[in-house]
Amino acid sequence: MDLRNKHILVVGLGRSGISVAKFLTSRGCRVTAADNRSEDAFGDLLSEIRSLGISIELGPHKDEIFENCDLIVLSPGVPHTIAPVHRARQKDIPVIGEIELAHHFINIPIIAVTGTNGKSTTTLLIGEMLNQSGFKSLTGGNLGPPLIELVDQQKAADFIVAEISSFQLDTINKFRPLVSIILNITDDHLDRYPDFAAYARSKARIFENQQANDICVINEKDAVILSISENLIARRYAFNCRQSNEYSAWISDQTICFHTPDGGDQHVDCTDIPLTGCHNLENASAAGLAVLSVGGTISGINGALKKFKGLAHRVEYIDTVNRVAFYDDSKATNVDAVARALESFSSPVVLIMGGRDKGGGYESLRPRIAQCVKQLIVMGEAADKIKTVFADMVPTVKAVDMAHAVKMAASFSAPQDSVLLSPACSSFDMYDSYAQRGRDFARSIDELTRGAHDLAKGEKS
Ligand code: ADP
Repeated sequence: MDLRNKHILVVGLGRSGISVAKFLTSRGCRVTAADNRSEDAFGDLLSEIRSLGISIELGPHKDEIFENCDLIVLSPGVPHTIAPVHRARQKDIPVIGEIELAHHFINIPIIAVTGTNGKSTTTLLIGEMLNQSGFKSLTGGNLGPPLIELVDQQKAADFIVAEISSFQLDTINKFRPLVSIILNITDDHLDRYPDFAAYARSKARIFENQQANDICVINEKDAVILSISENLIARRYAFNCRQSNEYSAWISDQTICFHTPDGGDQHVDCTDIPLTGCHNLENASAAGLAVLSVGGTISGINGALKKFKGLAHRVEYIDTVNRVAFYDDSKATNVDAVARALESFSSPVVLIMGGRDKGGGYESLRPRIAQCVKQLIVMGEAADKIKTVFADMVPTVKAVDMAHAVKMAASFSAPQDSVLLSPACSSFDMYDSYAQRGRDFARSIDELTRGAHDLAKGEKS
Protein backbone atom coordinates (compact mmCIF):
# COMPACT_ATOMS: atom_id res chain seq x y z
CA MET A 1 0.00 0.00 0.00
CA ASP A 2 1.65 3.21 -1.13
CA LEU A 3 0.56 6.04 1.11
CA ARG A 4 3.17 8.68 0.37
CA ASN A 5 1.75 12.16 -0.22
CA LYS A 6 -1.81 10.86 0.16
CA HIS A 7 -4.35 12.94 2.06
CA ILE A 8 -6.01 10.67 4.58
CA LEU A 9 -8.97 11.35 6.85
CA VAL A 10 -8.96 9.48 10.16
CA VAL A 11 -12.43 9.47 11.75
CA GLY A 12 -12.64 8.98 15.52
CA LEU A 13 -9.87 10.04 17.86
CA GLY A 14 -9.92 7.17 20.34
CA ARG A 15 -6.85 5.05 21.02
CA SER A 16 -6.78 3.34 17.61
CA GLY A 17 -7.60 6.56 15.69
CA ILE A 18 -4.72 8.39 17.37
CA SER A 19 -2.33 5.53 16.62
CA VAL A 20 -3.46 5.45 12.99
CA ALA A 21 -3.02 9.22 12.62
CA LYS A 22 0.51 9.01 14.07
CA PHE A 23 1.40 5.99 11.91
CA LEU A 24 0.22 7.66 8.71
CA THR A 25 2.07 10.88 9.52
CA SER A 26 5.27 8.90 10.08
CA ARG A 27 4.75 7.31 6.63
CA GLY A 28 4.64 10.72 4.92
CA CYS A 29 0.87 11.19 4.57
CA ARG A 30 -1.07 14.40 5.05
CA VAL A 31 -3.51 13.56 7.81
CA THR A 32 -6.77 15.16 8.93
CA ALA A 33 -8.42 13.72 12.03
CA ALA A 34 -12.15 14.23 12.63
CA ASP A 35 -14.11 13.57 15.78
CA ASN A 36 -17.63 14.72 16.59
CA ARG A 37 -16.76 15.48 20.21
CA SER A 38 -15.72 18.96 21.32
CA GLU A 39 -12.25 20.23 22.34
CA ASP A 40 -12.78 19.75 26.11
CA ALA A 41 -13.30 15.96 25.69
CA PHE A 42 -9.59 15.62 24.88
CA GLY A 43 -7.58 17.57 27.46
CA ASP A 44 -3.92 18.01 26.46
CA LEU A 45 -4.00 15.34 23.80
CA LEU A 46 -4.88 17.63 20.91
CA SER A 47 -1.83 19.85 21.20
CA GLU A 48 0.40 16.76 20.99
CA ILE A 49 -1.43 15.58 17.86
CA ARG A 50 -1.37 19.05 16.28
CA SER A 51 2.37 19.28 16.95
CA LEU A 52 2.83 16.30 14.59
CA GLY A 53 1.27 18.31 11.77
CA ILE A 54 -2.10 16.55 11.92
CA SER A 55 -5.04 18.88 11.34
CA ILE A 56 -8.04 18.36 13.54
CA GLU A 57 -11.75 18.82 12.79
CA LEU A 58 -14.02 18.65 15.82
CA GLY A 59 -17.81 18.79 16.20
CA PRO A 60 -20.52 17.70 13.73
CA HIS A 61 -18.97 16.02 10.65
CA LYS A 62 -18.70 18.19 7.54
CA ASP A 63 -19.25 16.52 4.17
CA GLU A 64 -16.47 18.46 2.46
CA ILE A 65 -13.86 16.96 4.81
CA PHE A 66 -15.06 13.44 3.92
CA GLU A 67 -15.13 14.15 0.21
CA ASN A 68 -11.74 15.84 -0.15
CA CYS A 69 -9.35 13.05 0.72
CA ASP A 70 -7.78 9.97 -0.91
CA LEU A 71 -8.71 7.47 1.80
CA ILE A 72 -10.86 7.38 4.94
CA VAL A 73 -9.79 5.30 7.94
CA LEU A 74 -12.72 4.75 10.32
CA SER A 75 -12.38 3.92 14.01
CA PRO A 76 -14.45 0.96 15.24
CA GLY A 77 -16.54 3.28 17.44
CA VAL A 78 -17.82 5.13 14.35
CA PRO A 79 -20.60 3.27 12.49
CA HIS A 80 -19.60 2.72 8.85
CA THR A 81 -23.16 3.56 7.85
CA ILE A 82 -23.16 7.28 8.81
CA ALA A 83 -24.25 9.67 6.06
CA PRO A 84 -20.93 11.43 5.33
CA VAL A 85 -19.19 8.03 4.91
CA HIS A 86 -21.98 6.89 2.60
CA ARG A 87 -21.61 10.02 0.46
CA ALA A 88 -17.80 9.65 0.32
CA ARG A 89 -18.22 6.03 -0.85
CA GLN A 90 -20.55 7.23 -3.60
CA LYS A 91 -17.70 9.45 -4.76
CA ASP A 92 -15.41 6.36 -4.88
CA ILE A 93 -13.33 7.35 -1.88
CA PRO A 94 -12.14 4.10 -0.26
CA VAL A 95 -13.18 3.56 3.36
CA ILE A 96 -11.29 1.08 5.56
CA GLY A 97 -10.65 0.48 9.25
CA GLU A 98 -7.48 0.28 11.30
CA ILE A 99 -7.30 -3.55 11.04
CA GLU A 100 -7.35 -3.41 7.26
CA LEU A 101 -4.68 -0.69 7.21
CA ALA A 102 -2.42 -2.55 9.66
CA HIS A 103 -2.81 -5.81 7.76
CA HIS A 104 -1.14 -4.27 4.71
CA PHE A 105 1.98 -3.60 6.78
CA ILE A 106 2.14 -6.87 8.72
CA ASN A 107 4.16 -9.66 7.16
CA ILE A 108 4.13 -12.27 9.91
CA PRO A 109 1.18 -14.70 10.31
CA ILE A 110 -1.92 -13.36 12.02
CA ILE A 111 -4.16 -15.48 14.23
CA ALA A 112 -7.47 -13.59 14.48
CA VAL A 113 -10.12 -14.25 17.12
CA THR A 114 -13.73 -13.17 16.92
CA GLY A 115 -17.04 -14.20 18.53
CA THR A 116 -19.64 -12.60 20.75
CA ASN A 117 -17.92 -13.65 23.98
CA GLY A 118 -14.50 -14.94 25.01
CA LYS A 119 -12.40 -13.03 22.48
CA SER A 120 -10.07 -11.33 24.99
CA THR A 121 -9.59 -14.44 27.09
CA THR A 122 -8.89 -16.61 24.04
CA THR A 123 -6.55 -14.07 22.44
CA LEU A 124 -4.39 -13.85 25.56
CA LEU A 125 -4.47 -17.62 26.02
CA ILE A 126 -3.22 -18.18 22.47
CA GLY A 127 -0.43 -15.67 23.03
CA GLU A 128 0.63 -17.43 26.22
CA MET A 129 0.34 -20.93 24.68
CA LEU A 130 2.52 -19.86 21.75
CA ASN A 131 5.11 -18.33 24.06
CA GLN A 132 5.16 -21.48 26.21
CA SER A 133 5.66 -23.49 23.00
CA GLY A 134 8.85 -21.56 22.28
CA PHE A 135 7.46 -18.97 19.86
CA LYS A 136 7.35 -15.23 20.34
CA SER A 137 3.90 -13.71 19.92
CA LEU A 138 2.41 -10.24 20.10
CA THR A 139 -1.22 -9.71 21.13
CA GLY A 140 -3.42 -6.75 20.27
CA GLY A 141 -6.34 -5.48 18.24
CA ASN A 142 -9.58 -4.87 20.10
CA LEU A 143 -7.68 -5.59 23.32
CA GLY A 144 -4.36 -4.02 24.25
CA PRO A 145 -2.43 -2.15 21.58
CA PRO A 146 -4.21 -1.53 18.26
CA LEU A 147 -2.70 -3.70 15.46
CA ILE A 148 -1.18 -0.62 13.84
CA GLU A 149 1.06 -0.20 16.91
CA LEU A 150 2.40 -3.74 16.38
CA VAL A 151 3.64 -3.03 12.85
CA ASP A 152 6.97 -1.70 14.12
CA GLN A 153 7.39 -4.57 16.62
CA GLN A 154 6.74 -7.49 14.28
CA LYS A 155 10.41 -8.09 13.38
CA ALA A 156 11.01 -9.63 16.79
CA ALA A 157 7.94 -11.90 16.70
CA ASP A 158 6.67 -15.10 15.03
CA PHE A 159 2.93 -14.44 15.27
CA ILE A 160 0.47 -11.66 15.90
CA VAL A 161 -2.64 -12.75 17.81
CA ALA A 162 -5.45 -10.28 17.21
CA GLU A 163 -8.79 -9.87 18.93
CA ILE A 164 -11.20 -8.62 16.27
CA SER A 165 -14.68 -7.24 16.96
CA SER A 166 -17.57 -7.21 14.51
CA PHE A 167 -17.23 -3.42 14.23
CA GLN A 168 -13.63 -3.91 13.09
CA LEU A 169 -14.71 -6.56 10.59
CA ASP A 170 -17.22 -4.11 9.09
CA THR A 171 -14.36 -2.10 7.60
CA ILE A 172 -12.03 -4.79 6.25
CA ASN A 173 -11.40 -5.34 2.59
CA LYS A 174 -8.50 -7.76 2.09
CA PHE A 175 -7.72 -8.66 5.72
CA ARG A 176 -6.63 -12.31 5.64
CA PRO A 177 -5.48 -14.08 8.80
CA LEU A 178 -3.60 -17.39 8.56
CA VAL A 179 -5.86 -18.73 11.32
CA SER A 180 -9.30 -17.34 12.11
CA ILE A 181 -11.37 -18.38 15.10
CA ILE A 182 -15.10 -17.87 15.63
CA LEU A 183 -15.97 -18.73 19.21
CA ASN A 184 -19.75 -18.21 19.32
CA ILE A 185 -22.42 -15.90 17.89
CA THR A 186 -25.30 -14.88 20.13
CA ASP A 187 -27.45 -11.73 20.54
CA ASP A 188 -25.40 -8.57 20.95
CA HIS A 189 -25.02 -5.07 19.50
CA LEU A 190 -28.56 -5.02 18.17
CA ASP A 191 -28.48 -1.29 18.89
CA ARG A 192 -25.97 -0.97 16.03
CA TYR A 193 -26.95 -3.67 13.51
CA PRO A 194 -30.35 -3.74 11.75
CA ASP A 195 -30.89 -7.35 12.89
CA PHE A 196 -29.15 -10.48 14.21
CA ALA A 197 -28.47 -11.81 10.69
CA ALA A 198 -26.51 -8.64 9.85
CA TYR A 199 -24.45 -9.01 13.03
CA ALA A 200 -23.72 -12.68 12.21
CA ARG A 201 -22.75 -11.79 8.64
CA SER A 202 -20.32 -9.24 10.01
CA LYS A 203 -18.62 -11.96 12.14
CA ALA A 204 -18.37 -14.24 9.07
CA ARG A 205 -16.18 -11.66 7.37
CA ILE A 206 -13.22 -12.90 9.42
CA PHE A 207 -12.74 -15.76 6.94
CA GLU A 208 -13.98 -14.14 3.71
CA ASN A 209 -10.46 -13.66 2.29
CA GLN A 210 -8.99 -16.91 3.59
CA GLN A 211 -7.69 -19.42 1.05
CA ALA A 212 -7.55 -23.22 0.97
CA ASN A 213 -4.33 -23.43 3.01
CA ASP A 214 -5.58 -21.09 5.73
CA ILE A 215 -7.37 -22.40 8.79
CA CYS A 216 -10.69 -21.51 10.39
CA VAL A 217 -11.37 -22.80 13.91
CA ILE A 218 -15.11 -23.02 14.51
CA ASN A 219 -17.45 -23.95 17.32
CA GLU A 220 -19.18 -27.06 16.02
CA LYS A 221 -21.96 -26.69 18.63
CA ASP A 222 -22.99 -23.21 17.46
CA ALA A 223 -25.79 -23.46 14.88
CA VAL A 224 -25.32 -19.87 13.71
CA ILE A 225 -21.61 -20.44 13.02
CA LEU A 226 -22.38 -23.68 11.19
CA SER A 227 -24.80 -21.89 8.92
CA ILE A 228 -22.58 -18.90 8.12
CA SER A 229 -19.57 -21.13 7.43
CA GLU A 230 -21.21 -23.45 4.92
CA ASN A 231 -19.15 -22.08 2.03
CA LEU A 232 -15.89 -21.80 3.94
CA ILE A 233 -12.81 -22.11 1.72
CA ALA A 234 -10.24 -22.45 4.52
CA ARG A 235 -9.59 -25.75 6.31
CA ARG A 236 -12.23 -26.27 9.00
CA TYR A 237 -10.87 -27.24 12.41
CA ALA A 238 -13.68 -27.84 14.92
CA PHE A 239 -13.90 -27.54 18.68
CA ASN A 240 -16.77 -29.00 20.75
CA CYS A 241 -16.58 -32.04 18.49
CA ARG A 242 -14.28 -34.96 17.63
CA GLN A 243 -13.26 -35.18 13.97
CA SER A 244 -11.08 -38.18 13.23
CA ASN A 245 -9.55 -36.95 9.98
CA GLU A 246 -8.74 -33.32 10.91
CA TYR A 247 -7.54 -31.25 13.86
CA SER A 248 -10.30 -31.06 16.45
CA ALA A 249 -10.88 -30.53 20.17
CA TRP A 250 -13.58 -31.55 22.60
CA ILE A 251 -14.22 -31.47 26.34
CA SER A 252 -14.74 -34.48 28.54
CA ASP A 253 -15.41 -33.53 32.20
CA GLN A 254 -12.40 -31.39 33.17
CA THR A 255 -10.19 -32.63 30.32
CA ILE A 256 -9.63 -31.08 26.91
CA CYS A 257 -8.91 -33.67 24.23
CA PHE A 258 -7.11 -32.67 21.05
CA HIS A 259 -7.00 -34.75 17.92
CA THR A 260 -4.28 -34.13 15.34
CA PRO A 261 -4.00 -36.25 12.19
CA ASP A 262 -0.35 -37.13 12.90
CA GLY A 263 -0.40 -37.22 16.72
CA GLY A 264 -3.73 -38.99 17.41
CA ASP A 265 -5.59 -38.04 20.60
CA GLN A 266 -3.83 -36.06 23.34
CA HIS A 267 -5.33 -34.93 26.63
CA VAL A 268 -4.88 -31.84 28.81
CA ASP A 269 -6.12 -32.18 32.39
CA CYS A 270 -7.75 -28.92 33.48
CA THR A 271 -8.83 -29.95 37.00
CA ASP A 272 -6.45 -27.56 38.74
CA ILE A 273 -6.23 -24.66 36.32
CA PRO A 274 -7.08 -21.17 37.65
CA LEU A 275 -9.64 -20.48 34.88
CA THR A 276 -13.12 -21.59 35.87
CA GLY A 277 -16.33 -22.38 34.01
CA CYS A 278 -17.21 -24.57 31.06
CA HIS A 279 -17.13 -21.55 28.73
CA ASN A 280 -13.45 -21.09 29.56
CA LEU A 281 -12.72 -24.73 28.71
CA GLU A 282 -14.30 -24.01 25.33
CA ASN A 283 -12.12 -20.92 24.93
CA ALA A 284 -9.07 -22.98 25.91
CA SER A 285 -9.91 -25.74 23.42
CA ALA A 286 -10.32 -23.23 20.58
CA ALA A 287 -7.05 -21.56 21.60
CA GLY A 288 -5.20 -24.89 21.83
CA LEU A 289 -6.45 -25.98 18.44
CA ALA A 290 -5.21 -22.77 16.84
CA VAL A 291 -1.85 -23.16 18.56
CA LEU A 292 -1.40 -26.82 17.52
CA SER A 293 -2.31 -25.93 13.95
CA VAL A 294 0.69 -23.57 13.69
CA GLY A 295 3.22 -25.87 15.35
CA GLY A 296 2.64 -25.23 19.07
CA THR A 297 2.89 -28.07 21.56
CA ILE A 298 0.69 -29.83 24.09
CA SER A 299 3.19 -28.97 26.80
CA GLY A 300 2.98 -25.29 25.77
CA ILE A 301 -0.81 -25.48 26.02
CA ASN A 302 -0.55 -27.21 29.38
CA GLY A 303 1.95 -24.69 30.74
CA ALA A 304 -0.16 -21.71 29.68
CA LEU A 305 -3.34 -23.14 31.22
CA LYS A 306 -1.59 -23.78 34.54
CA LYS A 307 -0.43 -20.17 34.63
CA PHE A 308 -3.24 -18.13 33.08
CA LYS A 309 -5.37 -16.55 35.80
CA GLY A 310 -8.05 -14.99 33.61
CA LEU A 311 -8.85 -11.33 33.17
CA ALA A 312 -10.30 -8.82 35.59
CA HIS A 313 -14.09 -8.26 35.45
CA ARG A 314 -14.78 -11.71 33.94
CA VAL A 315 -16.41 -13.67 36.81
CA GLU A 316 -13.55 -12.34 38.94
CA TYR A 317 -13.61 -13.26 42.63
CA ILE A 318 -13.45 -10.05 44.68
CA ASP A 319 -13.98 -10.86 48.36
CA THR A 320 -15.99 -12.81 50.91
CA VAL A 321 -18.09 -10.87 53.40
CA ASN A 322 -20.02 -12.71 56.13
CA ARG A 323 -19.38 -16.00 54.24
CA VAL A 324 -20.90 -14.63 51.02
CA ALA A 325 -18.54 -14.57 48.02
CA PHE A 326 -18.73 -11.58 45.64
CA TYR A 327 -17.87 -11.91 41.92
CA ASP A 328 -17.37 -9.16 39.35
CA ASP A 329 -18.51 -10.07 35.83
CA SER A 330 -18.93 -6.47 34.66
CA LYS A 331 -17.65 -7.48 31.19
CA ALA A 332 -20.80 -9.60 30.71
CA THR A 333 -22.62 -7.09 28.52
CA ASN A 334 -24.94 -9.56 26.78
CA VAL A 335 -27.30 -12.36 27.84
CA ASP A 336 -25.16 -15.33 26.79
CA ALA A 337 -22.23 -14.15 28.93
CA VAL A 338 -24.62 -13.97 31.92
CA ALA A 339 -26.00 -17.44 31.18
CA ARG A 340 -22.49 -18.92 31.03
CA ALA A 341 -21.45 -17.13 34.23
CA LEU A 342 -24.48 -18.52 36.09
CA GLU A 343 -23.57 -22.01 34.85
CA SER A 344 -20.37 -21.78 36.93
CA PHE A 345 -22.21 -21.48 40.29
CA SER A 346 -23.49 -24.44 42.26
CA SER A 347 -24.79 -22.38 45.24
CA PRO A 348 -27.70 -19.87 45.14
CA VAL A 349 -26.86 -16.57 43.46
CA VAL A 350 -27.96 -13.01 44.19
CA LEU A 351 -27.63 -11.45 40.74
CA ILE A 352 -27.11 -7.76 39.92
CA MET A 353 -28.10 -6.86 36.35
CA GLY A 354 -28.73 -3.68 34.37
CA GLY A 355 -27.10 -0.73 32.66
CA ARG A 356 -27.71 0.52 29.12
CA ASP A 357 -29.93 -1.78 27.06
CA LYS A 358 -28.34 -3.00 23.79
CA GLY A 359 -31.52 -3.71 21.86
CA GLY A 360 -31.86 -7.47 22.39
CA GLY A 361 -34.23 -9.26 24.79
CA TYR A 362 -33.55 -10.86 28.19
CA GLU A 363 -36.15 -13.69 27.96
CA SER A 364 -33.58 -16.35 27.01
CA LEU A 365 -32.17 -16.06 30.54
CA ARG A 366 -35.41 -17.19 32.22
CA PRO A 367 -34.59 -20.92 32.56
CA ARG A 368 -31.10 -20.25 33.95
CA ILE A 369 -32.33 -17.58 36.35
CA ALA A 370 -35.16 -19.85 37.54
CA GLN A 371 -32.55 -22.55 38.24
CA CYS A 372 -30.02 -20.70 40.35
CA VAL A 373 -30.94 -17.08 41.14
CA LYS A 374 -32.63 -16.50 44.51
CA GLN A 375 -32.83 -12.69 44.26
CA LEU A 376 -32.45 -10.29 41.36
CA ILE A 377 -31.33 -6.68 41.78
CA VAL A 378 -31.73 -4.40 38.77
CA MET A 379 -30.19 -1.00 38.18
CA GLY A 380 -29.51 1.59 35.48
CA GLU A 381 -31.51 2.59 32.40
CA ALA A 382 -32.62 -0.98 31.63
CA ALA A 383 -33.82 -1.71 35.19
CA ASP A 384 -37.56 -1.58 34.46
CA LYS A 385 -37.26 -3.56 31.21
CA ILE A 386 -35.35 -6.34 32.99
CA LYS A 387 -37.68 -6.30 35.99
CA THR A 388 -40.69 -6.85 33.71
CA VAL A 389 -39.10 -9.99 32.27
CA PHE A 390 -38.22 -11.71 35.57
CA ALA A 391 -40.39 -10.30 38.37
CA ASP A 392 -42.99 -13.08 38.01
CA MET A 393 -40.41 -15.82 38.70
CA VAL A 394 -37.78 -14.39 41.07
CA PRO A 395 -37.98 -11.65 43.75
CA THR A 396 -36.72 -8.51 41.98
CA VAL A 397 -35.83 -5.11 43.43
CA LYS A 398 -34.48 -1.92 41.93
CA ALA A 399 -31.29 -0.22 43.16
CA VAL A 400 -30.50 3.47 42.68
CA ASP A 401 -26.75 2.92 42.27
CA MET A 402 -24.02 0.32 42.72
CA ALA A 403 -23.46 0.96 46.44
CA HIS A 404 -27.19 0.48 47.02
CA ALA A 405 -27.20 -2.69 44.87
CA VAL A 406 -24.29 -4.19 46.81
CA LYS A 407 -25.81 -3.32 50.17
CA MET A 408 -29.12 -4.92 49.19
CA ALA A 409 -27.31 -7.96 47.75
CA ALA A 410 -25.55 -8.47 51.10
CA SER A 411 -28.82 -8.19 53.00
CA PHE A 412 -30.54 -10.79 50.76
CA SER A 413 -27.69 -13.34 51.00
CA ALA A 414 -27.21 -16.20 53.41
CA PRO A 415 -23.82 -17.80 54.20
CA GLN A 416 -22.53 -19.89 51.21
CA ASP A 417 -24.53 -17.83 48.68
CA SER A 418 -22.73 -15.87 45.98
CA VAL A 419 -23.32 -12.33 44.78
CA LEU A 420 -22.67 -11.87 41.07
CA LEU A 421 -22.55 -8.61 39.13
CA SER A 422 -23.30 -9.78 35.57
CA PRO A 423 -25.18 -6.91 33.94
CA ALA A 424 -26.19 -8.15 30.42
CA CYS A 425 -26.01 -4.45 29.48
CA SER A 426 -23.34 -1.94 28.57
CA SER A 427 -22.11 0.41 31.28
CA PHE A 428 -22.44 3.71 29.42
CA ASP A 429 -25.56 4.92 31.22
CA MET A 430 -23.58 5.40 34.45
CA TYR A 431 -19.89 4.77 33.70
CA ASP A 432 -17.16 5.36 31.09
CA SER A 433 -16.48 1.65 30.75
CA TYR A 434 -17.23 -1.83 32.09
CA ALA A 435 -13.94 -1.62 34.01
CA GLN A 436 -15.05 1.51 35.85
CA ARG A 437 -18.35 -0.23 36.70
CA GLY A 438 -16.41 -3.24 38.01
CA ARG A 439 -14.21 -1.01 40.15
CA ASP A 440 -17.28 0.68 41.61
CA PHE A 441 -18.63 -2.78 42.50
CA ALA A 442 -15.34 -3.68 44.25
CA ARG A 443 -15.30 -0.32 46.04
CA SER A 444 -18.85 -0.85 47.27
CA ILE A 445 -17.88 -4.30 48.60
CA ASP A 446 -14.93 -2.71 50.32
CA GLU A 447 -17.27 -0.26 52.06
CA LEU A 448 -19.39 -3.21 53.11
CA THR A 449 -16.35 -5.03 54.49
CA ARG A 450 -15.34 -1.99 56.50
CA GLY A 451 -18.93 -1.75 57.75
CA ALA A 452 -18.82 -5.44 58.77
CA HIS A 453 -15.52 -4.88 60.63
CA ASP A 454 -16.90 -1.80 62.39
CA LEU A 455 -19.96 -3.79 63.40
CA ALA A 456 -17.78 -6.62 64.73
CA LYS A 457 -15.67 -4.12 66.70
CA GLY A 458 -18.83 -2.49 68.09
CA GLU A 459 -20.16 -5.87 69.22
CA LYS A 460 -16.90 -6.63 71.08
CA SER A 461 -16.68 -3.30 72.90
P1 ADP B 1 -14.91 -10.54 24.75
O1 ADP B 1 -13.56 -10.00 24.51
O2 ADP B 1 -15.47 -11.29 23.58
O3 ADP B 1 -15.88 -9.56 25.33
P2 ADP B 1 -14.06 -11.73 27.28
O4 ADP B 1 -13.07 -12.80 27.34
O5 ADP B 1 -13.64 -10.35 27.63
O6 ADP B 1 -14.73 -11.72 25.84
O7 ADP B 1 -15.32 -12.11 28.19
C1 ADP B 1 -16.49 -11.27 28.19
C2 ADP B 1 -17.63 -11.91 28.95
O8 ADP B 1 -18.01 -13.12 28.32
C3 ADP B 1 -17.28 -12.29 30.39
O9 ADP B 1 -18.45 -12.09 31.14
C4 ADP B 1 -16.93 -13.75 30.30
O10 ADP B 1 -17.16 -14.44 31.51
C5 ADP B 1 -17.88 -14.23 29.19
N1 ADP B 1 -17.33 -15.32 28.36
C6 ADP B 1 -16.03 -15.62 28.14
N2 ADP B 1 -15.93 -16.66 27.29
C7 ADP B 1 -17.19 -17.00 26.95
C8 ADP B 1 -17.75 -18.00 26.07
N3 ADP B 1 -16.98 -18.82 25.39
N4 ADP B 1 -19.10 -18.06 25.96
C9 ADP B 1 -19.90 -17.20 26.65
N5 ADP B 1 -19.43 -16.26 27.50
C10 ADP B 1 -18.09 -16.15 27.64
